[in-house]
Amino acid sequence: MKRYNRVLLKLSGESLMGAQQYGIDTNRLSDYARDIRAAVEMGTQVSIVIGGGNIFRGLKGATQGFDRVKGDQMGMLATVINSLALSSALSAVGVKNRVLTAIRMEPIGEFYTKWKAIEHLEAGEVVILSAGTGNPFFTTDTGSSLRGIELEADVMLKGTRVDGIYTADPEKDPTATKYDRITYDEIYRQGLKVMDLTATTMCMENDLPIVVFDMDTPGNLLRVLRGEPIGTYVSNSLSEQ
Ligand code: UDP
Repeated sequence: MKRYNRVLLKLSGESLMGAQQYGIDTNRLSDYARDIRAAVEMGTQVSIVIGGGNIFRGLKGATQGFDRVKGDQMGMLATVINSLALSSALSAVGVKNRVLTAIRMEPIGEFYTKWKAIEHLEAGEVVILSAGTGNPFFTTDTGSSLRGIELEADVMLKGTRVDGIYTADPEKDPTATKYDRITYDEIYRQGLKVMDLTATTMCMENDLPIVVFDMDTPGNLLRVLRGEPIGTYVSNSLSEQ
């Protein structure tokens, strides 16, 4: 019934905007919280990394004259804001959860260590891993790969607005077709924009598979966890899937 025991779910900051241009759509947040509750109820250990692109991105800030390191720190703080919002939405639907931070900032969250995170996961709590890697020049996709590998997750689930990886951008090219499965090698060869190169390389080198799927359709998270063939499964070898 359940394919994975421990997962790392990556949600982009932008997806939290819902139909808005900026900030947090509380309806979207509640949908996510209910889907995550269903995942926990089926016995899955769920850790989550959220981006901050709905509030601030360091790279964009740098083009507007912000110092890159300060801009990235602002971006990391944006992920903490989103994490607190998700934590609150999860508590509202009765899901026990913890916010851990990659940068020390008690009492907003506990300072992250692998062992603390695993202890909470094993106690059945959702763990929200905020502030990315804690370092500038990284993204939350890289933060997700890093935490997924550290926490020995079975898979990283990259919840997006599209339903998988396509041969080209489906919003621009109507002939684009979806991959059901693909290898990391092929992603490099085709130059497909799935995650940044640092994140992709970390997953490849440490053998962490990912599933790219449409998180905005309620129930999809559960479908992925049951092993239903939705989204695109990425791994080092097609035979292991
Ligand atoms: N960020 C960072 N280090 C990290 C993770 C994130 O400096 O380890 C900063 C960076 O400026 C990034 C911003 O936080 O642009 C928000 O994260 P991201 O762009 O990954 O969010 P998403 O695109 O998933 O919404």
